[in-house]
Amino acid sequence: MDMDSRGNILYLVVPCYNEEEGLEHAARVMRDKVRRLAAEGQISGKSKIMFVNDGSRDGTWKIISGLCKEDAVFCGICFSRNYGHQSAILSGMLEAAKHADMAVTIDADLQQDIEALDQFIACYQRGCEVVYGVRNNRDTDGFFKKMTATGFYKLMGLLGCNVMQNHADYRLLSKAALQALMEYKEVNLFLRGLIPTMGFPSDVVYFDVKKREAGHSKYTLKKMLALAVDGITSMSTRPLRMITVWGFLVSMFSMVMIVVCLVDWMIGKNVQGYTTTLVVSLLMGGLTIFSLGVVGEYVGKIYMETKARPRYIIEAIIWKEGEE
Ligand code: UDP
Ligand code: MG
Repeated sequence: MDMDSRGNILYLVVPCYNEEEGLEHAARVMRDKVRRLAAEGQISGKSKIMFVNDGSRDGTWKIISGLCKEDAVFCGICFSRNYGHQSAILSGMLEAAKHADMAVTIDADLQQDIEALDQFIACYQRGCEVVYGVRNNRDTDGFFKKMTATGFYKLMGLLGCNVMQNHADYRLLSKAALQALMEYKEVNLFLRGLIPTMGFPSDVVYFDVKKREAGHSKYTLKKMLALAVDGITSMSTRPLRMITVWGFLVSMFSMVMIVVCLVDWMIGKNVQGYTTTLVVSLLMGGLTIFSLGVVGEYVGKIYMETKARPRYIIEAIIWKEGEE
């Protein structure tokens, strides 16, 4: 692809949930970076930083609107309530698609190295439509986060959803990819799994993860578990297949046991084995309820999808044409 033919308006999409402590600092760092990239001619002077306020309960939106007033490089979307990180970055990207040639999603806590942007843009200019940011290490994560995250990726793979190891949501999408993303209408959204299935020429950029500069993680265990379940159920029906296989194996085993029991009865062997009976019935009961639960998860997802409710509600948008 010819280098000059690719538009270079960049939008940084930044989801924010209760980030008042570090937001002003983060905004300055991001603005400096965007200005520098524009001065070097890597991106257009029309590039912007778009904050998505995901229903914060603190002063986050006040800070965002203040920033927007002060400098047209900033723009903001305000959700009517907390819809979650995935919805926040989706809305930011879809809004960005109206003005931008490429959008990069990045967290508000500056944990993801913003200096990697140069490489993201270079990949885009080489013709990539999708560029994945992949973290070099998990040194800055606590033991618990490391374990849960690693377990999550393993489990996802086993259950039929292949996600890129150590890729969170730091990534660039070109206008073409953003427009493709717009065609996906699903409510149960797992971008990390979905975007690779869109195809497109893509590449990977490695970056170092830093410690959170201010505030604490907004991803509670509850949110992580919900993300894991959403990820699996939105990308794969393998758990349902596993239940079928399980049921089949247990049925086969039961056939054998029935024959064994009948033979025992015919030759007049005494009945014994309270423990075996109890263990088997408890195990079967447990498996049955668990399987019902898994099926229920999918039924629940179908229910939510058929309602086709809006994925988020935007209460306000601040966007101003820049001076250039
Ligand atoms: N976030 C969000 N909505 C939520 C939870 C988090 O928009 O419900 C944002 C948060 O403000 C941050 C990003 O998602 O910009 C990543 O969250 P965090 O840094 O807390 O997660 P961690 O890095 O610990 O995985
Ligand atoms: Mg973080």
